[in-house]
Amino acid sequence: MSGNAARVKAIQQIVNREPMTPKSPARLEDIWAENVFNLSKMQASLPKSVFKSIQKTIVTGEKLDPAVADAVATAMRDWAMAKGALYYAHVFYPMTNLTAEKHDGFISVQGDGNVISEFSGKVLVQGEPDGSSFPNGGIRDTFEARGYTGWDVTSPAYIMETDNGSTLCIPTVFVSWTGEALDKKVPLLRSIAAMDKAARKVLKLLGNTDVAHVNSSCGAEQEYFLIDANFASLRPDLLLAGRTLFGKAPAKGQEFDDHYFGAIPERVQVFMQDVEETLYKLGIPAKTRHNEVAPGQFEIAPFFEAANVASDHQQLIMTVLRHTAKKHGFMCLLHEKPFAGINGSGKHVNWSVGNATQGNLLDPGDSPHDNIQFLVFCGAVIRGVHKYGPLMRAAIATASNDHRLGANEAPPAIMSVYLGTQLEEVFEQIKTGTVSESKRKGVMDLGVDVLPTLTKDAGDRNRTSPFAFTGNRFEFRAVGSSQSVSGPLIVLNTMLADSLEWMGNRLETELTQGTDLNTAIITILKEVMEAHGVVVFGGNGYSAEWHEMAVNERGLANLPTTADALPVLKAEYIEDLFQKTGVLTPVELESRFEVYAEQYILSIEVEAKLVINMAKTLIYPAAVEYLSKLSSTLTSLADLGVSLDKASAETVASLTNSMMAEVGKLSTALEKHDFDSTEAKMVYCATTLRSLMDSIRSYGDALEGEIADSFWPLPSYQEMLFVK
Ligand code: ADP
Ligand code: MG
Repeated sequence: MSGNAARVKAIQQIVNREPMTPKSPARLEDIWAENVFNLSKMQASLPKSVFKSIQKTIVTGEKLDPAVADAVATAMRDWAMAKGALYYAHVFYPMTNLTAEKHDGFISVQGDGNVISEFSGKVLVQGEPDGSSFPNGGIRDTFEARGYTGWDVTSPAYIMETDNGSTLCIPTVFVSWTGEALDKKVPLLRSIAAMDKAARKVLKLLGNTDVAHVNSSCGAEQEYFLIDANFASLRPDLLLAGRTLFGKAPAKGQEFDDHYFGAIPERVQVFMQDVEETLYKLGIPAKTRHNEVAPGQFEIAPFFEAANVASDHQQLIMTVLRHTAKKHGFMCLLHEKPFAGINGSGKHVNWSVGNATQGNLLDPGDSPHDNIQFLVFCGAVIRGVHKYGPLMRAAIATASNDHRLGANEAPPAIMSVYLGTQLEEVFEQIKTGTVSESKRKGVMDLGVDVLPTLTKDAGDRNRTSPFAFTGNRFEFRAVGSSQSVSGPLIVLNTMLADSLEWMGNRLETELTQGTDLNTAIITILKEVMEAHGVVVFGGNGYSAEWHEMAVNERGLANLPTTADALPVLKAEYIEDLFQKTGVLTPVELESRFEVYAEQYILSIEVEAKLVINMAKTLIYPAAVEYLSKLSSTLTSLADLGVSLDKASAETVASLTNSMMAEVGKLSTALEKHDFDSTEAKMVYCATTLRSLMDSIRSYGDALEGEIADSFWPLPSYQEMLFVK
């Protein structure tokens, strides 16, 4: 079947498809957390003393008492088997942004040849997947391939239902046999602990006597595209790279903004309901769904949760979106830029810190005490973003997110903080020492007056900022749609831990010198603003003036590509930060650099090979076939005395030749292997390889505009984005 016939068939199938009928929605109360072995299920199935012990572990994050592990394991197995699970899996989160799982059966063969189901505390608590196939950045030599997974008791076990059966899934950490973190969960837990310690010290210095464990929270908004699976299967680029490597922009794109405000297409709504039902059963509080800016683009956002659980749940959301899409005949694209010229996808990470005694510490609150506490934490964030902005950039550096950042649709690759007009003014006044003059604004004596009511900025008020205060949290908007949120959360918690540690020490010094609390706080916040206030920016982050001003006047780093950003992980001040907070050892940090750099290089090399393949095996043959048809038609017409202009044929011929010349160059470029360093290889990918790929694409896309549609082998942007 020629490429074009396959396209036509795909469209016919889509148009004639039987609509999936929506299931009548289940009552939320009936299905909520049905597939989660949560506290209430433990309480119902465990002896009281065992339950008390595990409950304490969950709240405090302490080590699990081995004596209770067996009882918990048995109860968990009975629950899972009653729900049809015959296998369990230790689920872990390697450095690749993916979710990994190793499945084992409950089955145990006995001496007499019979089998029993077995699941001991030991296997619940610790697993031993062959770690050698997961990237470790050189931490382990290949002869020592063992890696350990260990149950993260703070994240509940759950059952994953698929058409092929149910599996009991146990969220775990993944470490090397020498104890180094090989995953994204270990450092996340450590970053929360570091932030907790520093935050509690500050809270006590601020006069609070009862101070509970401080945790960080996260609510992540996930953007994604849905396209029909019939089209996806005809696009090798979507199948292998998750984005289109060729494709001419359609005559109609997103310029009418009609998708964002439009009703959710029926077929998509049925899909969303199916996703939500699965998520509710998994105890994931899906809350918001809507169309996004681009045609075919949507968003799902859960209610926020504790960062560690939110991160595990976010991974599950991505898995459920992908699986459910397949069931509904869609392909779910989580890539940051599946379609050139059309808005890409991000994952806004809403982040805050708080505890049971003082509440949300990034909420201004309404008493003077709350206000001043808020300013301290907010000041700590400002200091953190200024000191560690390049690290924040590194935490969102992937080959796919590079297509989005700074491309006038997503925040720039320069890290700054947006506070909103009023809050920016408050900090400006603290800095200039004019606090006392603005009494009418209510910020004079922070110990007595309250802040003016801050208007809660709707999330989209300033879309151009990578990191915006939105009333009671910060929204990290530059995070990529396919990323794990752990990396960004680790950086945010760690830099806050560092700032709070510094503030705690400064505060202690001031107080022992006899300075009163409010004066001490204002003095310290003034210092913060003087040293770090340049990172606060409320203007248009997309503008050329900002790029100029940020770098030349404010000294902020602009790191446009991953090749520019990742080497930050090797900087001494970053190594110090992670070491002193106990979040990553130098060896762990270095291994992260190696793994991320390798991922970057690999994904560009794979795409480059695909570009060559598609140009040679799909586009070139289509062009030649069309030309040959065209020339024979022109000849027969000439025989009849009809002469047509040959310009179109000449254009096709010339574009084809130019494209193939560039393909030759890219093939040669891919053969270069002698690089002085990983950094040099990354730069080569970011510059030489990417620009050749772009150039080939531009010829390919021009050909799509010249060749008769009936000869074109690939589903077009128009078809993929608009045919539902
Ligand atoms: P918007 O589109 O205005 O950004 P959404 O409702 O789409 O808002 O998403 C906001 C996200 O922020 C939700 O996931 C919400 O639960 C989360 N959020 C709200 N408060 C907090 C908080 N204190 N900490 C972390 N996330 C929060
Ligand atoms: Mg939003």
